[in-house]
Amino acid sequence: MGRKSLIIIGAGIAGLSAGCYAQMNGYDSCIYEAHSIPGGLCTSWTRRQYTFDGSIDWLTGAEPDGMFHPLWQEVGALKDIRFHHHDEYCRYRSHDGRVVTLYTDPDRLKAELVAHAPEDRVPIERLCAIIRVFKGFKAPVAMAPEVMGSLDGIAMMVDLLKQARGYHYFFTYGKISMAEFASAFRSSLLRDALTSIWNNNMPVYMFAGVLAWCSNGTAGYPDGGSLRLAQNIARRYESLGGQILYGQRVEKILVSDGKVTGIRLADGSEAQAAIVISAADYYATVNGLLGGDYTPQAVEEWFRENAPFPPYIQVSLGINRNMGNESRLICVRPRDPLIVAGKAVSCLVLHNYALDRTLSPEGKTAFAVRLFTEYEYWAELHKNRERYREEKQALAAAVIDELERDYPGLAAQVEVVDVATPATYSRYTGNWRGAPMGWLPTTANFGKSLPKTLPGLEGFYAVGHWITPGGGVPVALKTARDALQIICRKDGKPFTTLKSQK
Ligand SMILES: Cc1cc2nc3c(=O)[nH]c(=O)nc-3n(C[C@H](O)[C@H](O)[C@H](O)COP(=O)(O)OP(=O)(O)OC[C@H]3O[C@@H](n4cnc5c(N)ncnc54)[C@H](O)[C@@H]3O)c2cc1C
Repeated sequence: MGRKSLIIIGAGIAGLSAGCYAQMNGYDSCIYEAHSIPGGLCTSWTRRQYTFDGSIDWLTGAEPDGMFHPLWQEVGALKDIRFHHHDEYCRYRSHDGRVVTLYTDPDRLKAELVAHAPEDRVPIERLCAIIRVFKGFKAPVAMAPEVMGSLDGIAMMVDLLKQARGYHYFFTYGKISMAEFASAFRSSLLRDALTSIWNNNMPVYMFAGVLAWCSNGTAGYPDGGSLRLAQNIARRYESLGGQILYGQRVEKILVSDGKVTGIRLADGSEAQAAIVISAADYYATVNGLLGGDYTPQAVEEWFRENAPFPPYIQVSLGINRNMGNESRLICVRPRDPLIVAGKAVSCLVLHNYALDRTLSPEGKTAFAVRLFTEYEYWAELHKNRERYREEKQALAAAVIDELERDYPGLAAQVEVVDVATPATYSRYTGNWRGAPMGWLPTTANFGKSLPKTLPGLEGFYAVGHWITPGGGVPVALKTARDALQIICRKDGKPFTTLKSQK
């Protein structure tokens, strides 16, 4: 029997990973990507001598014993990548200059927080206890829930018993938001420090989990930046015989008698395939590429009830200064109100890339300042290119002024300025409302996911960071792997990962 043809829409991490697993499992696949490079949101861009990173601060899967490491190895993502691990997750600086260091190690974190607020010893110990438990907790990721049989169910039960405390904490702190958790702290400094860097509706387990994974080496920063990771997977995909067609925007998924038959591109040309995997934005896929014809009520309700992750503005700066002695991640409350999109910004998150020597020349530093903003404002402003450009310049100037207070002389050392808005993310990747990580994870959508298949539509699969709230590259990878497990099961063949092909 010949190889079955399979089309993938989008060459982000999900699409590239789906392509690798498709080739490993004997499908004849082709990826259609609207942009001219792979990676989607997982990207970096070069301006003069500086490379600015647009995604990964920490990759889950850095540690060989960690849950995602074998999966990243399967798709060749980690080839020649060295990880940086961090003792400090972030430093928080209040308006009045007080600094709280959020250490990743729970004992150091406890000592630091108690030194600032001895009156909060009880909630501090609770936070550190959650981090300690998550340091030893590993969620099973190897098998798609859709293909689990009764034996796998028994294995799950055994795992549940073995890691009972981890699961208990996971389910308990998945239902408590950061805002609620922080409200138990009497110190306003600690409350602010804990609620500034992340969205307050997010469950506590995510914050504690990230500190735990940074602490035990599961999560780290990959040297070389985000695009390098994506390029590694693209190379693996092509070495497995896959083909990526760039500059090819898919406009429609073709369907006949409830079965997918292929795709139509923006230039009107068509390509046939019995299986189409969309690794593009979920909302645009079901409402645009499928014309809303196969959207189940539950998915429509999901769209109404859930919010996309709030988008960022990223002000990237190429600075003629070695910032190697500064912290990697600094969360700063602006001293004077900084108004962006008509609203005062509560926090600037400074990303110092001095540790990655591939991103800037010797003695210089690639720096990025991220702040949450609103999509509509920038999407509307983008229609007037002159005003859009002026507003980006004004914002960059205000950000540089704020930095100058902590780093005197820095303003004169800024050599390159680049501003990416939610309109930029939307334009280059098609993500709904410029969302950086799919849906905002909340205590209400904790444990829930969107379906990877749609009723009444054979041969269609959706993968990517929109499937599970919180997104991120691990979700992109896992949902792609899951989809191929489902496809193989349907075609009656065992799923393989050709581990020998390194
Ligand atoms: C500032 C920032 C920081 C982040 N930090 C982290 C982090 O520290 N850790 C982490 O794990 N994650 C992080 N993320 C999130 C992570 O980058 C994303 O969750 C992940 O890259 C999404 O991958 P994806 O393949 O699902 O989707 P995407 O990257 O959105 O890929 C979709 C692809 O489909 C293409 N496409 C869309 N529509 C079409 C069409 N009609 N035809 C053809 N092609 C199409 C797009 O061009 C794109 O290439 C961050 C993201 C941002 C923006």
